[in-house]
Amino acid sequence: MLRYHQPLQRPQAVLWPVACRQFTFDAGEKAVQMKSHLYGPVVSRRLGLSLGVDLVPFKVCSFDCVYCQLGRTTGKSVRRESFYSADVILDQIRSALESGTSPDIISFSGSGEPTLNSDLGWLIRGVKQITHVPVAVITNSSMLWDKQVQEELLAADLILPSLDAGTEAVFQQVNRPHASLSLEKIVSGLADFRARYQGKIRLEVLLLKGINDGSEELERFREQIARIDPDGIDLNTAIRPPAESFAKPLIPRRMEEIRNLFGERATVISQPPSVRRKRCPQEVREVIIEMLGRRPCTMDEMATALGRHRHEVAKFVGVLLEERLISQKTHEGRRYFFVGEE
Ligand code: SF4
Repeated sequence: MLRYHQPLQRPQAVLWPVACRQFTFDAGEKAVQMKSHLYGPVVSRRLGLSLGVDLVPFKVCSFDCVYCQLGRTTGKSVRRESFYSADVILDQIRSALESGTSPDIISFSGSGEPTLNSDLGWLIRGVKQITHVPVAVITNSSMLWDKQVQEELLAADLILPSLDAGTEAVFQQVNRPHASLSLEKIVSGLADFRARYQGKIRLEVLLLKGINDGSEELERFREQIARIDPDGIDLNTAIRPPAESFAKPLIPRRMEEIRNLFGERATVISQPPSVRRKRCPQEVREVIIEMLGRRPCTMDEMATALGRHRHEVAKFVGVLLEERLISQKTHEGRRYFFVGEE
């Protein structure tokens, strides 16, 4: 039986003010959370068997990345909030562990940017009190200039921040950040955090064809990364359906060239198509194709119908797009997927 070693002071919940079909409100203005915040455990190349914890409503983020697999950002923000009851989230993690789930790691991420959840520090400490399973936080790095966020992340075992540009112009082009953010603010925050943090930092760099893969940009990238001094650099490319159709992946050979340029600490984490194909089970494949054969659907609709998290569905949809079994089209700002070609 897993128990707390000592009581945690519970954070005050501030209710997210928009209607969300994943949870409802009762008359006493208390959030009744219908949603499971957990997904997986899923096999992750970087993390092993990872139990994901989704901390933000879809899609609250400080960025609106052109490659985002979740689609365009609908709530761009740098304001930290207690979106849900932290007790409920911790209870869900506890129940999953007690029911026999044994992940290699518990990773805080989200349908947006997880450091925007102001209960993050409380939750990391809460998880550390109920299990020895290590805790990771996957972040876009945008809030690391904030000392409070740094303080909260110190309790995690592994931080996976991202950096997608070496210059301000490309940062604006790729990440389309909140107006208060700049590349310098983010890199300084990361460097400052690196100096304080004793755990491991694996920096993810997502490369896009013709956007952030030019030789000048890569040189600036190397300079910025040298300031951050991460333990590892994970090179990725847009292999899942991007928010914008112009966000194109790099071919494996170019990824290897860039890995050589970035040195020994760099690893290519995007997998070749043959490996990715094996990760879309036949039964899921059939359900998605049948569903889309009836009518076009959004990623969200598929996630609800399949009872899986958007991150998992994005992986499957990416494989089917690559095999040209389905296509995507944006209509009135929403991405729809359908069977066949455009
Ligand atoms: S990729 Fe991550 S950081 Fe970028 S918009 Fe999507 S959720 Fe936000």
